[in-house]
Amino acid sequence: MKKILSLILVATMLLSVLCFASCGKKDDNTLLVYTEAGFAPYEFIYNNEIVGVDIAIMQAVAEELGKELVITDVAFDTICTSVQNGKADAGAAGITIRPDRAEQVDFSIPYSSTEQYIIVPASNEAIKTLEDLKGKKVGIQNGTTSDMLIADLIADGTLAGSEIIPYTSPAVAAASMNKQDAVVTDKLTAQLIVANDSTLKAFSLVKADGTPAAEVEEYGICVQKGNKELLDAINKVLEKLMADGTIDKWVEEYSAKAKEVGA
Ligand code: GLN
Repeated sequence: MKKILSLILVATMLLSVLCFASCGKKDDNTLLVYTEAGFAPYEFIYNNEIVGVDIAIMQAVAEELGKELVITDVAFDTICTSVQNGKADAGAAGITIRPDRAEQVDFSIPYSSTEQYIIVPASNEAIKTLEDLKGKKVGIQNGTTSDMLIADLIADGTLAGSEIIPYTSPAVAAASMNKQDAVVTDKLTAQLIVANDSTLKAFSLVKADGTPAAEVEEYGICVQKGNKELLDAINKVLEKLMADGTIDKWVEEYSAKAKEVGA
């Protein structure tokens, strides 16, 4: 009886240790980072693992801090709130730095810039500009800057009658093109999606007068407000990775990997 009891005890202890290592809980030895793994080349699945530019950046930050990196895949629109509430140490998901988000979390220095792109079927000749989306169905990842842009334009009447079809990731949205007329997402992700699918094409989202539909966006890593220690470490690592060209190298490297697996 005693033996059985101690076996159970050992098993329970083992399980809890295993859980600590893999259940995405926060502790002092880990750097828990939330991402959304459908956003190549910044985060995507490669050989059953989440990889990408953001993951490589956060691995370098973890090494700087002497911690173990734990990456958890969550819905994009929950990342800033989870970081705000301290559920995760940081959010790294190609997150555009915006004043409304900066009220919730603190952002690192910018490490990449992007613009809004549109994806349509390769045979489509009707949709060329933002205004052509009027009355159309647009597939968009929930809670993104693309979502906010199109929602605002529907609300102010510019895109009267248009409808947003919500998705968990741009890749999933583009894979369901028969459910909508177009997908709007960030530039590199759009370019990779169409590189992997010859039935689609992508181009910069401009207005009929040729000006961009939205301003240039910059990505930042987010941390809980006031977490200066972590933010300083992230900024230090980013400065170095940008100065020596590593981020540019990773963008190329992970774009090639994403093409390889069709991410
Ligand atoms: N940059 C966009 C945003 O912050 C999209 C990010 C993403 O889809 N992972 O909303």
